[in-house]
Amino acid sequence: MNREEIIQNYNDCVVGSYTKTGLVFVKGQGSYLWDIEGRKYLDFFPGWAVSGLGHCHPAVVEAVKEQVSVLMHIANNHYHPWQGLLARRLSELSFGGKVFFCNSGAEANESAIKIARLYGNKTGRYKIVSMENSFHGRTLATVTMTGQSKYNKPFEPLPPGFSHVPFNDFDALRKAVDGQTVAVMLEPVQGEGGINVAGVEYLKRVREFCTEKDLLLMFDEVQTGFGRTGKLFAYQHFGVVPDVMTLAKTLGGGFPVGAMVAGRDIAALMVPGTHASTFGGSPLACAACLAVLDAVEKEHLLENVQTAGDYLRMKLQALKEKFPERIKKIKGLGVMLACELDRDGSELVKACAENGLLINCTHVNILRIMPSITVTKEEIDGAVEILGKCLGVIK
Ligand code: PLP
Repeated sequence: MNREEIIQNYNDCVVGSYTKTGLVFVKGQGSYLWDIEGRKYLDFFPGWAVSGLGHCHPAVVEAVKEQVSVLMHIANNHYHPWQGLLARRLSELSFGGKVFFCNSGAEANESAIKIARLYGNKTGRYKIVSMENSFHGRTLATVTMTGQSKYNKPFEPLPPGFSHVPFNDFDALRKAVDGQTVAVMLEPVQGEGGINVAGVEYLKRVREFCTEKDLLLMFDEVQTGFGRTGKLFAYQHFGVVPDVMTLAKTLGGGFPVGAMVAGRDIAALMVPGTHASTFGGSPLACAACLAVLDAVEKEHLLENVQTAGDYLRMKLQALKEKFPERIKKIKGLGVMLACELDRDGSELVKACAENGLLINCTHVNILRIMPSITVTKEEIDGAVEILGKCLGVIK
């Protein structure tokens, strides 16, 4: 099939719910993608943070290849060796809770919403307060929890029990909580909302407040999890521990997975029949996740994020000094960085792609630069060179 035929198939038969770039990719390896004409691109937004270990990481490929011929799927009313093993590792690496497995970030957040409702049942509480500019997924409940009306307004009437307050504003949160509130949900670093990092003091106050009011503190680590910020989970930067955490994206290294981790007392509320996912935690998915965790440890990827993240930030800072009228601010943590532009970034994103660099723009003027956690200095040099060249030519 050539490029035109591939696009024609989409135009004819795929629901048009995505804004398309026009690029057709056929191969990926590490930080690189190749399009159908053989052009090579540096991917600094790999799979919207899914391919966090780079494309086709060899350890994940091997693990999936091996598992696929042994056992792909088994119904969740049976046991298999890999799900419990993965749950144990996630539990030990985080806050000692129990894990529910599913297939995406939205599903992980649905699970969090459902566990919060179960938690509230005994006291008649059901409301969840989340943040303005948050992003939690596209199912009806998670898009309602998402604090951006552009995503949920078209689907009104929305499910009840969700409200939003400004991020990093403790007083607004305190005022929004009433006798029917059961949980607070937030991303420690807002991703889609523009790479907004939570304040340390703010998160500490939120934690204390949730404990005092018996509210579940739930962190959406779908985008921040698995090393992107320099710690395995972003909450580990802040000296606070959530009651519930949701994961997806990099967890599977490209394989579709999601997970919700809940403290043991809370997890105990999900008794048989309360929640399920047919595909969740399959042997194949778990093999991919275990390979991701092994690679993060064996390849010292958290250390890599710290050094690569500092280097990338320093290079972006230098670009900001070169183009002070175009770049207003550099923000983020680890390799979850952004340049706040003085203008709509879509033209710049397009120019970068034409020059072989893939990045993303969110909230009109926030350029998201989120390479894989395996990124090298040479790849960063290459990306920043292209970005600098494009910043110099856009009008
Ligand atoms: N939560 C966050 C923070 C996200 O960034 C996303 C997706 O971008 C989601 C949830 C939804 O994940 P998925 O698209 O896998 O359902």
